[in-house]
Amino acid sequence: MTETYTRAHARDMDAHDDLRMYRDEFYLNHESVYMDGNSLGLMSKQAERSTLNILESWKTQGINGWTEGNQPWYYLSESLGEKMAGLVGANHEEVIATGSTTVDLHHLVSTFYQPEGKRTKILADALTFPSDIYALKAQLRLKGYDESHLVQVESEDGHLLNEADIIDAMTDDIALIVLPSVLYRSGQILDMKRLTQAAHERNIPIGFDLCHSIGAIPHDLHDWNVDFAFWCTYKHLNGGPGSVAGLFLNEKHFGVTPGLAGWFSSAKNKQFDMEHTLTPATNAGAFQIGTPHLLSAAPLIGALDLFNDAGIDRVRRKSLELTDYMMSLIDHELDGYGMVICNPRNHDQRGGHVYVEHPEAARICKALKMKNVIPDFRTPSGIRLAPVALYNSFEDVYDCVHTLKMIMDDALYEQFENVRDVVS
Ligand SMILES: *Cc1c(COP(=O)(O)O)cnc(C)c1O
Repeated sequence: MTETYTRAHARDMDAHDDLRMYRDEFYLNHESVYMDGNSLGLMSKQAERSTLNILESWKTQGINGWTEGNQPWYYLSESLGEKMAGLVGANHEEVIATGSTTVDLHHLVSTFYQPEGKRTKILADALTFPSDIYALKAQLRLKGYDESHLVQVESEDGHLLNEADIIDAMTDDIALIVLPSVLYRSGQILDMKRLTQAAHERNIPIGFDLCHSIGAIPHDLHDWNVDFAFWCTYKHLNGGPGSVAGLFLNEKHFGVTPGLAGWFSSAKNKQFDMEHTLTPATNAGAFQIGTPHLLSAAPLIGALDLFNDAGIDRVRRKSLELTDYMMSLIDHELDGYGMVICNPRNHDQRGGHVYVEHPEAARICKALKMKNVIPDFRTPSGIRLAPVALYNSFEDVYDCVHTLKMIMDDALYEQFENVRDVVS
């Protein structure tokens, strides 16, 4: 046994890590430690290869690429849906790769928000990602309601939500509920099963934004009876900047008329009949709109193969080990430095990243970058650190925390201004 807080111990854990071979599948900059996989996952060799394959099919096949070759474009969104189904606990037909997170949210709300009589409000939370709130407010306006129809459950401490408070807010004027699976700052996992059950007891449809949980934790959306969900694929799934998003539609809703219909909402065999009456696909595919963004879907083919090979349960287990280790190092090395760990510590409630607050966070993050550690700053005082199971090592975590300690000991952050960059 090596001593817990030594580099030798980190190396020892790496030597016993049964996912360690996946690190070589990624393009890592070996001069730096990447801790930002929850904002933009790194490129894998598989993702690069599948992208080049799609480019090649365009180069060599032209229009025939839609139906020919080993990856016919016409069915790619469906086949990517199949590849993602296991990550969310869904049947194959319940998942489709389409659109972007925010567009998919608009689409799902335009379909599932059906105000009637006294039920006119949408329930969300006060800690969610701004884009979701902008979309919900826009959807309310389209139906003729003002912002007072958006109910946002508050947090007591500014970091965590209490499921009991959310359930208390499921009153008989709520027409729809949209919540995150994992909060983007504190990394708290909401109990989706419990919330779905409570919503359904009150006859309210409920959907989840999985941006911070997809590829980090397992889900059982179908068995939990969640109505719908949506997620981006460029964070933990490593699909590349702007890669096509994912959407889950519970099979009990198959056949629903999509709110933002287009010709790609059609049943595949009807689409080219070119009729002016839409025959929607009787699965999640109905939530496509127009021609899929093939070049932004291409990297996902390879990126998802890696996940299906490694298995989400193993990814989750290592992720918890990495974040447990990171917190134990922070507790040990940075005691008395004013760093406060604000994510939940227990496994049931903790997502894929560690969230630390410090009043000087903006410039601490700049100093970290200067010292070749890539963190993620969240205004006003948050530092997110995401050691990612498929490509980060325990030694990366060791280096990250020791660099942080050096920055604090030598006050290296003082040479920067404590304000955020344009993109942070
Ligand atoms: C990253 C993220 C988004 C981003 O939406 P895009 O439409 O992909 O830009 C939305 N919601 C949450 C919770 C996120 O974490």
